[in-house]
Amino acid sequence: MWAGSVTGQLGGYDPGMGAVIIDGKALAARYREEAGEKVAQLRARGHSVRLDAVLVATEDRQSSSRVYAENQAARCRELGIDYRLHELPHTAGYDEVAGRVLLLNTDDDVRAIMVHLPLPDGVDTQRIQALIDAEKDVEGVNPANIGNVVYGRTSLVPCTALAVLRMIQSTGMALQGKRIVVVGASDIVGKPVAVLLMRELATVISCNKFTKDLAELTRSADVLVVATGKAGLITALMVKPGAVVIDVGIHRVTMPDGSRRLVGDVAFDEVREVAGHVTPVPGGVGPMTVSMLLVNLINAVERRMR
Ligand code: NAD
Repeated sequence: MWAGSVTGQLGGYDPGMGAVIIDGKALAARYREEAGEKVAQLRARGHSVRLDAVLVATEDRQSSSRVYAENQAARCRELGIDYRLHELPHTAGYDEVAGRVLLLNTDDDVRAIMVHLPLPDGVDTQRIQALIDAEKDVEGVNPANIGNVVYGRTSLVPCTALAVLRMIQSTGMALQGKRIVVVGASDIVGKPVAVLLMRELATVISCNKFTKDLAELTRSADVLVVATGKAGLITALMVKPGAVVIDVGIHRVTMPDGSRRLVGDVAFDEVREVAGHVTPVPGGVGPMTVSMLLVNLINAVERRMR
């Protein structure tokens, strides 16, 4: 299994100097580069590397999912990865989407499948994701792949959770015995992150919007992972000096001067004064999540070769 060998240890934390910024863009670029080298090796041995992506069209030809798919296709081709887009008409219902996924599951030439979101109203996303062959599910969205994390079979881990783990590891911190507080417990981010970090033998505390005395818990964390969808929720007073802070949140906000900006769930400017390491938004977990799909893609291809 390819876990990526980017170690990328960052400079040490120096109290008084402010946090070391974990550069998600640079880290993601290194994973992308390694993926490109892996693809070249696989191709040299006669193996094709391809991503099959299902997209339900919208009436708007420039919908965000179409733009995302086109960008993704271009990025894959740059690395020598073939990209096959299976575009279904905007009228497609559950049966058509499910039918296409099942067809791809049974095609031996297909090693890696993803389904672009959002799906049309009336098509149950979770039911579709549960249909993707777990061994071809490069986004790690089939519940079986989240379950596999529990059992330590971690070749196709949900991409955002894997991005969080790799960013923490990039600081050089050994996780065994560390106290990790994960704020946010959604099925797609918070829970997989917590389970994955439990596998590292950390002491993991999962918080949600009903958690009492949140600040007391977050202040006790060696590592604080935040995925709540609440802009600026985590302030400097909630962070232990020297902690590693990973911000998964993404929000587009309007500034007092009317300009638009992307921010996270962490009040970055003040938290960077206290934390040891912190991820920025933008340029943090987002780009790493995109690169983790490449790690999963290569794992899926290699696994089918065995
Ligand atoms: P969600 O709304 O599904 O879940 C939010 C979770 O946070 C819930 O468990 C809720 O109980 C908890 N929560 C909300 N307010 C809280 C509070 N005040 N205190 C403690 N817990 C609180 O959200 P999600 O899908 O997990 O996404 C979270 C954020 O991460 C969003 O900003 C989303 O855009 C972002 N996101 C980023 C990536 C990425 O790749 N960077 C991927 C997925 C999601």
